[in-house]
Amino acid sequence: MRTSARERLAEAGGRLRHAREARGEAPRAKKSLGQHFLNQPAVCQRIAGLLHAQEGDAILEIGPGPGALTRVIEALPHRRLLLVEKDGHWAKVRQEEGDARTEVLCQDALAYPWEALEGAWKLAGNLPYNVASPLLWDIASRCRALSRAVFMVQKEVGERIAASPCSRDYGALSVWMQAHLACRMEFTVGPGCFTPPPKVDSAVLSFDPLPAPSRPASPDRLASLLRLCFQQRRKQLGGIFRRQGREDLLQRMEALGIAPSARPEELAVAQFLALSGC
Ligand code: SAM
Repeated sequence: MRTSARERLAEAGGRLRHAREARGEAPRAKKSLGQHFLNQPAVCQRIAGLLHAQEGDAILEIGPGPGALTRVIEALPHRRLLLVEKDGHWAKVRQEEGDARTEVLCQDALAYPWEALEGAWKLAGNLPYNVASPLLWDIASRCRALSRAVFMVQKEVGERIAASPCSRDYGALSVWMQAHLACRMEFTVGPGCFTPPPKVDSAVLSFDPLPAPSRPASPDRLASLLRLCFQQRRKQLGGIFRRQGREDLLQRMEALGIAPSARPEELAVAQFLALSGC
């Protein structure tokens, strides 16, 4: 069977990778896995410091890669460290270099069963930028064991997460994250702190779960309301709900004293929660 140019290129890439590994060299950073590795120990120290780690802590790091941040976390007080890494090469290296408290799972963090984590966990990571938003969306609503998290994301994503109503960055991700967690922009990091350097700035955010009664009682209802509203963020809510035949939402909006002329980007997180019946 004839192979396509793309398949031949992939095969050649695979051979090159194996040759580098056979020579004991680290493989090249993979763009498809968002691999921009931290090269500044001081930045790793600042990220890890925000975990406020204590002796009894269980910590989970997403995407440890070559381990710049992992090594700093390993030196902090903790009881257990779980590393979730999709790249088989780096998962193997991390397992070899970790101590008895370190466990490595070679898997896609997007498929991780966050509901299954038991006890209290602190989460950390310099997240792969291509999956950061869906990953954080999942963790916010599904990780009930979360006690604190510190993540680095693309600065633009960080600004969306921490945005206030009526600002340019405020959207579904802001409401969703802030409905579940207290989100705090901690500091920004320039491209020069990574190898290879990304084209954009990065930001480190910390997250603390809100008390259970303040969180959405029905995350699914909130998610579908946000989808409906932020597909047309500059349209008036009355019009959006009328066009969708959502008499229930029109009535609830009136009962809550929200003007039909209000636009999705103007509503506070608490108003979205009330509107979704959470
Ligand atoms: N923590 C390292 C550092 O700061 O230098 C690496 C960070 S790099 C931005 C992102 C890491 O996440 C890479 O090691 C990459 O292989 C891993 N990764 C990418 N996609 C992933 C996924 N879906 N699940 C788990 N790990 C993933």
